[in-house]
Amino acid sequence: MTTSPERPRSHLFYQSRRRRPLLDQARGVYLWDVDGKRYLDGSSGAMVCNIGHSNERVLEAMRRQMEKATFGYRLHFENEAAEKLAEKTAQLAPSGMERAFFVSGGSEAVESGIKLARQYALAKGEALRWKVISRFPSYHGATLGALAVTGYTPMTAPFEAMMRPMPKIPAPRAYLDGLDPDDPATGAHYAEMLERRIVEEGPETVLAFIVEPVGGASTGALVPPAGYMRAVREICTKYGVLLIHDEVMSGGGRTGKFFAGEHWNVDPDILVVSKGFAAGYAPLGAMLAQDHIVDAVLDDGGFIHGYTYAGNPLACAAGLAVIEEIENQGMMANAAKIGALLKERLKGLMNRFPFIGDVRGEGLLLAFELVSDRVTMTPFPASLGLHDKLVEIAYSKGLIIYSRRTRGGYEGDHFLVCPPMIATEAHVDEIMETLTDSLAGLEAEIGPLLDRSA
Ligand code: PLP
Repeated sequence: MTTSPERPRSHLFYQSRRRRPLLDQARGVYLWDVDGKRYLDGSSGAMVCNIGHSNERVLEAMRRQMEKATFGYRLHFENEAAEKLAEKTAQLAPSGMERAFFVSGGSEAVESGIKLARQYALAKGEALRWKVISRFPSYHGATLGALAVTGYTPMTAPFEAMMRPMPKIPAPRAYLDGLDPDDPATGAHYAEMLERRIVEEGPETVLAFIVEPVGGASTGALVPPAGYMRAVREICTKYGVLLIHDEVMSGGGRTGKFFAGEHWNVDPDILVVSKGFAAGYAPLGAMLAQDHIVDAVLDDGGFIHGYTYAGNPLACAAGLAVIEEIENQGMMANAAKIGALLKERLKGLMNRFPFIGDVRGEGLLLAFELVSDRVTMTPFPASLGLHDKLVEIAYSKGLIIYSRRTRGGYEGDHFLVCPPMIATEAHVDEIMETLTDSLAGLEAEIGPLLDRSA
C-alpha cells in the first residue's frame, strides 16, 4: 500500500520515512492515487479542503488572476485581489476588526499576531508586556515563535533550549475532569485558571492569551464549556491582556459559522485564520486585528514584520473565490446540518465499541477519543500506537481520517472526522460504514486488552 518496492527513492523528505501512494487527482470529497484507488477525504486533508477538491469556479477565478498577474511585490504595488479579500474578510470578521494582513499559512499568521501584539504594547509604552499565555494541550504552529506558545511536548521538546518559555494553563477538558460542560460553573472554573496565572506572572508582564475557540488536532475538536469564552474575554479586558483567537483550523465555516468565536458572540483583539481560508487552493492565511491596534502600530513607526509572499495576488484571488463559494452554496448551513448528523452517528458507535470514550466537536469539526475504561477515562498505553493503527486500517479501506496522541499530563488517542463542507448524507453513510469496519478491525487487535481491564 504505502511502500511498493519498485517505487524509486524519493529526493523529498518530510517527517518520517513512511511513503504514501502518488496522488493522481482529486474531485469533490474524493482523491485518487495513480493506481486508481479512491479515498474519501474524511479529514479534508489536515482540515483544509473545506469546500472540496477542484471546485471549477475557484479554478476559474485563479485562472483569471493568473492571466493578469501571479505576483506583484506588496511594497511595489497594491493588488485588487488582496484589497477585495481584505474587504470581504472585514465584513465577516468580529466587530471592529477591519484590517487584514495576509500570509501563506497558519504558523505565519500566528507569528504575525504575536508580533503585532508586542508592537502594540510598545506603542502604548508597555514594554514590560511580552508573555503570551496559551493552553496545554494546544497547537499554534511549527515556527519557533508559534511553537513557544504551543502545548504539545513531542513537537516542542527538541527546541525548548532555543525558545523563551511561555506560560501555559490547562485546556478545559471537562470530559476528563468529570465536569459538566453545560454548567457555567465549569466554564468559570477553567477561566479562573487564566486569571490566577495572569496574577502569578504579574499582569504588567502579560501581553496576550492565545486560544483556539474550537480546538484543533491537539485537543481533538474540544468545544469550550459554557461561559468559558466570555469569561476569558472579560479577564483579558480586566488586565489589559490582548485576546488572540487562533482560528487557523476552526475558521472558514467548518463549525457552521465563518469564525467559531461567533458561537459565543465573543470579539477577540486579534484573530488568525488559514487552512479553510483558501481551502487548499493556494497557501494563504490572514491575521486580522482591531482597527485601533493597527493604527497605533502604524502611527508608531510601522509594523516591523513581513513575508515576501504576503498578499500574493493569486492566493488572495483563490481565497476570495473560496469565500464566495462558501456563501453562494450555503456551505456553512450544510456543515451545521451534516455535522449534527455525523456527530449523532459517531455517538452511536459508542454503543457498539466500548473503547470509544468521547465524541465531541461543532459542525464538521468533529472528533472521537479512545479509552481503555470509559468510567475512569483511562487511555490506552502509547506503546499500542492506536492513533496510528486505526488511521492505517481506515486508509487501507479508502477512508482518510486524522489522528493525534496527546502527550504530557493526560495521554490519549483521538481521531478527527472532518469531511469537506459539501459532504452529503450519502457521504456520511460511506464514512460510517468504512469507519465501523475499521474500528472492528482495531477491536480484533485490542479486544484481549479490554477483557483484561474489565
Ligand atoms: N494553529 C492551529 C490551530 C493549527 O491547527 C495549525 C495547524 O495545524 C497552525 C496554527 C499552524 O498552521 P500551519 O501548519 O499552516 O503553519
